[in-house]
Amino acid sequence: MALVVQKYGGSSVADAASIKRVAQRIVDAQRAGNQVTVVVSAMGDTTDELLDLAQQVSPDPPARELDMLLTAGERMSMAVLAMAISDLGAEARSYTGSQAGLITDRYHGQARIIDVTPGRIQAALDEGAIPIVAGFQGVAQDTKDITTLGRGGSDTTAVALAAALDADICEIYTDVDGVFSADPRIVPAARQVPFITYEEMLELAAHGAKVLHLRCVEYARRFNVPLRVRSSFTDKPGTLIVHDLEESTMEQPIISGVSQDLSEAKITVTNVPDRPGMAALVFETLAAIGVNLDMIVQNVSADGITDITFTLPTADAEKATEALQLRGDEIGFGALYTDLEIAKVSLVGAGMRSHPGVSATFFRTLAEAGVNVEMISTSEIRISVVTRKDSAAAAVKALHTAFGLDAEGEAVVYAGTGR
Ligand code: ADP
Ligand code: ASP
Ligand code: MG
Repeated sequence: MALVVQKYGGSSVADAASIKRVAQRIVDAQRAGNQVTVVVSAMGDTTDELLDLAQQVSPDPPARELDMLLTAGERMSMAVLAMAISDLGAEARSYTGSQAGLITDRYHGQARIIDVTPGRIQAALDEGAIPIVAGFQGVAQDTKDITTLGRGGSDTTAVALAAALDADICEIYTDVDGVFSADPRIVPAARQVPFITYEEMLELAAHGAKVLHLRCVEYARRFNVPLRVRSSFTDKPGTLIVHDLEESTMEQPIISGVSQDLSEAKITVTNVPDRPGMAALVFETLAAIGVNLDMIVQNVSADGITDITFTLPTADAEKATEALQLRGDEIGFGALYTDLEIAKVSLVGAGMRSHPGVSATFFRTLAEAGVNVEMISTSEIRISVVTRKDSAAAAVKALHTAFGLDAEGEAVVYAGTGR
């Protein structure tokens, strides 16, 4: 008997009819002889609607209360899904993240899982029941407050449970057929890949391909959890994430995908004195308020001063500016400019390592598409640029075509608003 963890995303459980359809899939998996544990997201766009509601009540809600509100979305879906399964004659029991043993640190809105103690889930499985766990949430080990894992975090709940239960497979059910060479909502000619390496999936997830939560991929790689992304609307096999493509007997393509990320902002600190320790002061100020930076560029200095530009999550831009302003005299910079209209476009492929000319094609393609490049960063298997938000889709499409990734047919998006 196999132990399967199945995670259903918001668009797969958007309404009563979808919940009944998913319930049937779950019961079928159990009747086929598997032990099934389910992780479920909030229905449709519920999380965004709860965030909108909080904004209407308070411009800056306390993080503890915001987390408590958001976890209500997953509580609703876990209970109704358990009801639908029960109607099909199987036994389902719903559990909040806390009841399922998802123990996190105390950072509201971006908590990390530090332990998983799934005693009640294992007991339910042993008794032949189907545990339904609310995704995206846990309980802080020290404060005992309810936390959330960050947007898209239900994927990580599923992998963490799969690791703790020693499951045979963790299946992420979503509204597209698997991992594609680009977001099918942006590039209709995107190609679904049967296999992708963890290494490439990590780069794609870290740079805007929200089909998998970044920490879910990190966790699966570290704990060796077999991970598959597939559609809840068809029986297609989807995409298996693998350590190495030899496992899949596939030849390594040069490029595996293109992604865009619209969630970052850019801040430029001008006229920073060009002395040892000044950059350290800037970045210590940002670290102290818990801001995660992405790209960093420092200009060549002229007349003993220099400009430093960095990108960070848009949601942190205001507090970063405030913190820097407070230490303005100490650092002695000129001005601060915040730009919210940027996008990051990335090209990912392990084959880049051994193929010359990838950068040349990349920048020539952007030039011909009229896309202006504002910042550049690379890893061994990725090239990213910052450009204007309204150039991003054109850049992604042009790169997808230039690197020969376009498929014949059109990719299907089964549901969801893409919000
Ligand atoms: P769920 O609600 O099931 O968690 P998400 O919206 O979080 O679904 O993730 C699925 C979406 O990810 C797809 O509908 C698609 O628009 C988007 N996406 C972005 N990049 C990719 C990619 N490379 N492959 C597949 N989907 C992608
Ligand atoms: N409901 C949460 C969100 O929308 C978590 C998830 O869907 O994974 O971000
Ligand atoms: Mg998701």
